[in-house]
Amino acid sequence: MKVLVINCGSSSLKYQVLDMENEELLAKGLVERIGIDGSVIKHEREDGKGFKLQTPMATHKEAIENVFEALLNKESGVLQSMDEIGAVGHRVVHAGEKLTDSTLITDDVIKILEECFDIAPSHNPPNVLGIKACQALMPNTPMVAVFDTAFHSTMPASSYIYAIPYEYYEKYGIRRYGFHGTSHKYVSERAAKMLNIDIKDLKIITCHLGNGASVSAIKSGKCIDTSMGFTPLEGVVMGTRSGGIDPAIIEYIMEKEGLSIEEMLKMLNRKSGVFGISGVSSDFRDLEVAANEGNERAQLALDIFAQKIKGYIGSYLAELDGADVIVFTAGIGENAIGMRAKICSNMENLGIKLDPERNNVRGEETIISAADSKIKILLIPTNEELMIARDTVSVVNAQA
Ligand code: ADP
Repeated sequence: MKVLVINCGSSSLKYQVLDMENEELLAKGLVERIGIDGSVIKHEREDGKGFKLQTPMATHKEAIENVFEALLNKESGVLQSMDEIGAVGHRVVHAGEKLTDSTLITDDVIKILEECFDIAPSHNPPNVLGIKACQALMPNTPMVAVFDTAFHSTMPASSYIYAIPYEYYEKYGIRRYGFHGTSHKYVSERAAKMLNIDIKDLKIITCHLGNGASVSAIKSGKCIDTSMGFTPLEGVVMGTRSGGIDPAIIEYIMEKEGLSIEEMLKMLNRKSGVFGISGVSSDFRDLEVAANEGNERAQLALDIFAQKIKGYIGSYLAELDGADVIVFTAGIGENAIGMRAKICSNMENLGIKLDPERNNVRGEETIISAADSKIKILLIPTNEELMIARDTVSVVNAQA
């Protein structure tokens, strides 16, 4: 079966087509500036053939029409007809508590996703727009929603309940949900495969370190805790997000600076994190250059980031009663050699010992721990699209 994977943001849309007979990527692309001047589609086939086209795209439907044209394009397309697509897999960020696994999209499912607009205002509305646009253009093709929150739905209440009056959980669903679930699931399954050990026999700590970052504790293939919470703002320090702070700071700064709550939340989401600490950049490549040139705040940002990740690893080692595997993934986890070394430094007493030579690698699936490290440390490039396509096939096959 050929599967189209759609990851729809408010003004951007990423897509991939995979042939799931052999899990082969056929083509991928990105539409940017949907609804903004200068809309552009970048399309690339597996053999490298592709194009970049600037053309007005006022709506997500127009963006998807352009994706279809790219996929059917004579020179760099991969399909003769859109009927070759057996199913579409949509990345959806938030499913609340009602949907805990990937699911066939029906009108009822869309209603549930719309109910989540309240708790995921910047993510779920564009996700649903993408689904509706696809449905309008491919009314007979099954569509599956794969949720960022689903993998974390196995967390026990002791991990997801906040210590605020319980009624807010009951009334409004205020609890920790966790995000990046598709990635945590993918890399934990890959880790078990790489080590040739049944995932049921493994305790794994996965570190998804990208612009957004989260750490998860996984026992027997099930998530038991994760660092992000009610929204992706909680947890470790990130590119531009603060991660966990004392909530009393919010009112204090709002009052001193005369900020509205919207401005305050924007500051915590977009102007904080390593960007806010350093004043240099949210990109770890820029931070490393600046730190090497003697910029103390860039160095401080890197130090704080590493310390927060260490803190979660330590906490999850305690929760899991030790671990067998630590996995690094996503932009920083896959590429930032120095940051991986920094996070793993001084943890030999906990059974964590990196091999500096093995660690000198980027974007490859490999073991980077020393031979005598009690805990295996793995580098695994994430592949959320493949995971979405796998779930899509299994949901569609289960209906058949
Ligand atoms: P997201 O999907 O959350 O936008 P990614 O997983 O693509 O983010 O990660 C992007 C981040 O990865 C960049 O902002 C940068 O900090 C980091 N990164 C990418 N390449 C490198 C590199 N070679 N060295 C250090 N950091 C890198």
